Amino acid sequence: MVSRPDGKPLGFNTQLVHSSTCSSRVGEVKPVVPPIYSSVTYVSEDPADLKSILLGEKEGYVYSRNGNPTVSELRKAIADIEAATDAVVFASGMAAIHASLIALGVSPGTKIVASKDLYGVTVSLLNEVIRPLGVEVIYTDLTDLENAERVITSQKPLVVFCETVSNPLLRIVDIRAIADIAHAVRSFLVVDNTFCTPLMARPLEMGADISLNSTTKYISGHGDVVGGCAAGAWDVCGRMQSVAIYSGGVMGPFEAWLTLRGMRTLGLRFAKQCENAQAISRLLKDHPAVSAVNYPGLESHPQHDLASDMFHGTYGAMLSFSLKDDTVEAAYRFMRALKICLPATSLGDVFTLVLHPATSSHLTMNEDSRRAAGITPGLVRISAGIEDTDDILTDIANALDAI
Ligand SMILES: *Cc1c(COP(=O)(O)O)cnc(C)c1O
Repeated sequence: MVSRPDGKPLGFNTQLVHSSTCSSRVGEVKPVVPPIYSSVTYVSEDPADLKSILLGEKEGYVYSRNGNPTVSELRKAIADIEAATDAVVFASGMAAIHASLIALGVSPGTKIVASKDLYGVTVSLLNEVIRPLGVEVIYTDLTDLENAERVITSQKPLVVFCETVSNPLLRIVDIRAIADIAHAVRSFLVVDNTFCTPLMARPLEMGADISLNSTTKYISGHGDVVGGCAAGAWDVCGRMQSVAIYSGGVMGPFEAWLTLRGMRTLGLRFAKQCENAQAISRLLKDHPAVSAVNYPGLESHPQHDLASDMFHGTYGAMLSFSLKDDTVEAAYRFMRALKICLPATSLGDVFTLVLHPATSSHLTMNEDSRRAAGITPGLVRISAGIEDTDDILTDIANALDAI
C-alpha cells in the first residue's frame, strides 16, 4: 500500500484505488490491476511444499477453494478499507453472515440476541438454519438502548447481531453503545454494515468484533456480481476462512476481480448516491401525496443527531416513504409510472432501484406482524443511483402525480 510523504493517513478514495492494485510480480512484469487466476490447482516446485503450504508454514497456493491469488488481493483490499488486520470474502453476503456466527462458536445451547429489524433472509437464516441447531435466537429492539441493555445483560448471549442502518425503515443502531453493553457480558458483536459501507461507518473502530457486508451491493456496486466479506481480528478471520473452506461458500476469482474493479469507484459512486438520496428525500417530504419519509439525512428523522455523530455528515443512499393513500394499489401505480427508476430488488447499484417491501422483501410475514414492524401497504423503498439528480427527481415527481 502507498503512503503519504508527510506520514498522515490516506484519504478513503486514495485507499480504495491503491489497496486494489496488484501486490506482486506476475512472471516478468508487475501489472497495475491483478490478473484473474482461474487455475484450480497449483504446481508444487518441490513435493514437500504442498504440505508446508497446507499447514500454513509456507506462503503459496494449492487448490482454489483453499486460496486463490485474485481472491487474496480482494481480501487485502477489504481489510485495508475496514482498517482491520484481516478480512475474508465469500460467495455471498449470506455466506459471510453464516460463517461469522459459526466462527464465533454458535452451537447447540448458545444464544444470539438479534436486532428485530434485519434483512429478511438473515431472519430466515436465523430461524430456519441456526435455530434448528438448538440455538436460542432472541429478537429485540436494539435502537432502544435501555431495552438493549436489559435484554443483553440478562440473556448474556454468545453473539449480538445487528445492522448499522436497518432495511427498509432506516433505523440506526448506536454501534458504540451496543458494543459496550455486549462486551460487558462477554458477548461478541457482529454488525452487518451493508447499507453504510466502510465509507460511512467502520464498525470495528466502533467496537464491533466482526464487520460484514454484502459486497453485492455498494462495494461492487454495478449489479453484476454476488459476494460477501467479513473483517475482524486475525484469529476470528482464520476461523471464518476455515468455515468458508470446509463448507465451500468461497468467492470465485472472477467475482473477486469484478468486486475489486467495482470498489475502486465506491467513493465517487457513494457520494453521488447520497446526494441523490438527499434530494429525493427533500422532494418527497414536501409532496402532498406522501405522509412520511424515512431518511437519516432529514432533520425530521428521529435519529438525525445520532446519524450525524456516527456517520460524520454522510447519511447514506437508502430511503423509504409512505404514501398518504396507504394501499398496495397506490404504491403499484407509483411504480408503474416510473420511467427511469427501475422497479427491482437489490440496492447499492449505479441504477436507482425502487422496491415495494410489503409484497417483496417482507412478503412471507403475516399482515399483522408486517404492520407491527412498520411495513405498511403504501411503503416504498428507494436505493438512489448515480443518475443525474434532476432526471431522477422529475421521474419521481411525475410518478407521484400519477397516483
Ligand atoms: C443483500 C443483503 C444481504 C445478503 O447478501 P447477499 O449478497 O444477497 O447474500 C445481507 N444483509 C443486507 C443488509 C443486505 O442488503
